[in-house]
Amino acid sequence: MKNKIKVGILGATGSVGQKFIELLENHPYFELNEVCASEQSAGKKYSEKVKWIQSTPLNKIAGSLTIKKCTPDLESQVVFSALDSSIAGEIESEFATKGYHVISNSKNHRWDEDVPLLIPEVNYEHLELLKSQKYEGSIVTNPNCSTIGLVLSLKPLEKFEIESVNVVTMQAISGAGFPGVPSMSILDNVIPFISGEEEKLETEPLKILGKIDNGMVVNSKMNISAQCNRVHVLDGHLEVVQVKFKNKPSKHELIESWKSFRSLPQQLNLPFAPEIPTRYFEEDDLPQPKLQRSIDKGMAVSIGRLRDCSLFDYKFVIISHNTIRGAAGGSILCAELMHEKGLI
Ligand code: NAP
Repeated sequence: MKNKIKVGILGATGSVGQKFIELLENHPYFELNEVCASEQSAGKKYSEKVKWIQSTPLNKIAGSLTIKKCTPDLESQVVFSALDSSIAGEIESEFATKGYHVISNSKNHRWDEDVPLLIPEVNYEHLELLKSQKYEGSIVTNPNCSTIGLVLSLKPLEKFEIESVNVVTMQAISGAGFPGVPSMSILDNVIPFISGEEEKLETEPLKILGKIDNGMVVNSKMNISAQCNRVHVLDGHLEVVQVKFKNKPSKHELIESWKSFRSLPQQLNLPFAPEIPTRYFEEDDLPQPKLQRSIDKGMAVSIGRLRDCSLFDYKFVIISHNTIRGAAGGSILCAELMHEKGLI
């Protein structure tokens, strides 16, 4: 591709913002052009202001950028938002109103009727909602980090008609942003509460797995119960899932459904599309965050331990990388799909 699309990052100094910078390096479609953060950071050189917490070194070009304010006067027409949700909603609306295309990780616009809550392999047809958006530009949102892993694991099973889901999460520390949970609270500990998380996990899948009717999403009717915990793991959310079906499949049918699942991003060969989006592991003690979170560039969901369940039909375990598949990488895949469809 000759001319890459210039992109900006809102909230570029945070945990997800940094992951965008790391993942956008040498991207075939997009070129990092601007970094933005709060007024306290604006005007400073990125490398001097940021507390870089990624395992790869900060690249020189990104480090040399001057941090800008989050105001809609950027050169880049596409912006990835990794803003704190206390201020993201209004800033994202301002950008979209002024003609920018915003791909957001924050919760604020996820429930707007005309905003897709997008997982490219699962509900790419929801991009149709953009036709009814009132903005000069557009807003597309990425779901919550635990929701993305859960829904990717459920999508290949939809044909068996899922009735109810129970999920218990063990979520990584990086999900709380930087500096996040104090070390004295999380070391040697599990915290059985993450503000607002259970509500997101119980409701967001219903919109994502909903069907478009007359230009609107009709939510899925399945029941979901969620319990969320913060655990002493750096990256990678683990979720234990129980599922009840209307048409109970065999274990073999479930495993084959995960193994064979491919969707539009794979057909289009998008750069961030995992080759196998839902990978099944036969080993008794897999998947584990430390071992599986980075599979397929951190974009695949790893599944294992499928067993009969005495309360539901089956139970199994999934893990997915919260700042890659669950945030920056997921948003980049959304943008790649939008680019392929001529929407940005
Ligand atoms: P974070 O580390 O706390 O970063 C927040 C960013 O917002 C920083 O760049 C900060 O800039 C900026 N910011 C704060 N107040 C601002 C203001 N008034 N004006 C402009 N910018 C402001 O948070 P995070 O973990 O990266 O999360 C970012 C968003 O992604 C959140 O909405 C979160 O819920 C969502 N998310 C996070 C994850 C994850 O795994 N971490 C996963 C999915 C979704 P300064 O440095 O200048 O303060």
